[in-house]
Amino acid sequence: MELLKKRILKDGEIITDQILKVDSFLNHQIDPYLIEEISSAFTSRFSDQIFNKILTVESSGIAPAVMTGFKLSIPVVFAKKNKPSTMIENAYTASIHSYTKNSDYEISVSSKFIKKGDRILIIDDFLANGSAARALISIAEQGGAKVGGIGIVIEKGFQNGGKLLREMGYRIESLARIESMSGNKIQFKD
Ligand code: 5GP
Repeated sequence: MELLKKRILKDGEIITDQILKVDSFLNHQIDPYLIEEISSAFTSRFSDQIFNKILTVESSGIAPAVMTGFKLSIPVVFAKKNKPSTMIENAYTASIHSYTKNSDYEISVSSKFIKKGDRILIIDDFLANGSAARALISIAEQGGAKVGGIGIVIEKGFQNGGKLLREMGYRIESLARIESMSGNKIQFKD
């Protein structure tokens, strides 16, 4: 997606050769026009699939997920990072390893919102080692749902999450695939 790649080159900040900061348009301040374009790209790339629900994880996945849900007219569920005390019903949980924070944390989704027979589109802002995506897949499966696709805004192709998930048979559509960020220069895959 050319608009996204241009924006990454213009406003993305390389923190280390592994971590990209995009908080001026995606992760903190959000550009609604860009999010709208991102959601159009997801709907067009997955136009051959039928989904009845989107699953993401708070907080950065929510904006692209909600706009895509709006376009597809389907609900959006986001996994919560700490099981809230108000979630007294059964919940599906999974653990994510965050290498940016070098720690593990749990995510939870109320069992009310994932049902057997659901066909789920997972959306997230970044794909690095695939821990967040695998946790969302696990939550979908705990509820008897099927993951029909994974939409990623920025895939860091030099980390192995994309390779692992594709080998597991998941269809991943990444709108920008970064090949390397070394030498303070961002290089895209295609
Ligand atoms: P993974 O679980 O695939 O290793 O990492 C994906 C998750 O970690 C995403 O949900 C995202 O929030 C965070 N993440 C991974 N890499 C980056 C990065 O380079 N920049 C930012 N801002 N977040 C990242």
